[in-house]
Order: sequence, then structure tokens, then C-alpha cells
Amino acid sequence: MGCLALNASFEPLTLVPPHRAVRLVLDRKAEILEVDEVRRFRSERSDIPCPTVIRLVRYVHVPRRFRRQVTNTFLFARDDYVCQYCGRHRRSLRNREFLTRDHVVPVSRGGENCWGNVVTACSPCNNRKASRTPEEAGMPLLSVPAEPNQVHLVWAVRRVTLAQARYIRLFYGEDALQAIQSRGGDPLDGGGIHFHGRS
Ligand SMILES: [Zn+2]
Repeated sequence: MGCLALNASFEPLTLVPPHRAVRLVLDRKAEILEVDEVRRFRSERSDIPCPTVIRLVRYVHVPRRFRRQVTNTFLFARDDYVCQYCGRHRRSLRNREFLTRDHVVPVSRGGENCWGNVVTACSPCNNRKASRTPEEAGMPLLSVPAEPNQVHLVWAVRRVTLAQARYIRLFYGEDALQAIQSRGGDPLDGGGIHFHGRS
């Protein structure tokens, strides 16, 4: 389980491995806000409770642009791991079938690799559609692809504890992240606690 690292502004930044969190604390670059009462972090030089939430002492400017790039991880999360043509969830795929990134207007036809032109498709649907548009292929889309809310997405693909979730909600507000759902059974996360939201 990673440690939630907050910016000095309390903005949740990312999950870091516990040993890295401890290093930041020992170097006085971060303060501990929450610890795991059970686990301790031991090394030759230290024996401290395992931090689960830390806050950076100095504000770090984080560039946002990279989050806008389309990656399969975020694309599949945006589409709830459901093929946007046949409606099958990743769990329902057969052996050797998998989720893919489909370009609604194929790249070979001038389609762009942007959020508005990509959808999650299972491999059979992607093969069947080939280099055609949904209209040409007679395969209507289940939803209109759009740029996802990055905040929701970033936290939707990470597993956080309830204590960590409190800090994410604290910063973004109740309505920004409306629901904490258990998404049990998803192969990606093994049934952890997730923020789930699309807007
Ligand atoms: Zn499909």
C-alpha cells in the first residue's frame, strides 16, 4: 500500500512507496499526517510508524499537461472497462480477448489520438470495425467520447485507504468526488476502495 503524498497546499499529488515517504520525512522534506498503527518502518537508522499520508513542507509546482495524454490505463478507466461497442466489461471477455484503444475515426483516415476520438473496444470489436467509422461499420457507440475529468481519473485508477480518501475529499470537496465505491472484482485493482466519478 502506497503512502499518499500531499502538496504543501494539501493537494493530493500521488502515491509513493513507503520507503520513499520515510526518506522524505527523515530529510525533513515532508511531515507525517497519518500513520499505519500496525506497521512500522524499520531500518538500521530508524524505527518509525509507517506513514500513510504525508505532506510536503514546501509547495511543489506540478505540471498538468502530461495528465492530458491518452493512455490505455486512463482510457479504460474513463470507459469503466467496458467495450463501447458491444458493452462487455473486461471481466466478461473470453480467453485471448482483451481491451484495446479504438480510434473512432481511424488514424489512417485522419483521426486524431485525442480523448474525443478514442474509445475502449474489446479486441473482437476493434478487429470487426477495422479501418471504418462506426457508421460505416454499423457499430454505434454506447457513449460519446470526451476528455475525462483528470482529477477523477487519476484517483479512480489508484487504490487508496479510507484515511487517504478523506484527504482527497478534503481537498477536492464532496461533490467533486461524489462516491467512494468498492469496485470489487476488477482485475486491475483487486477490489480496493476507489474514488469513482465521471463528469
Ligand atoms: Zn466489444
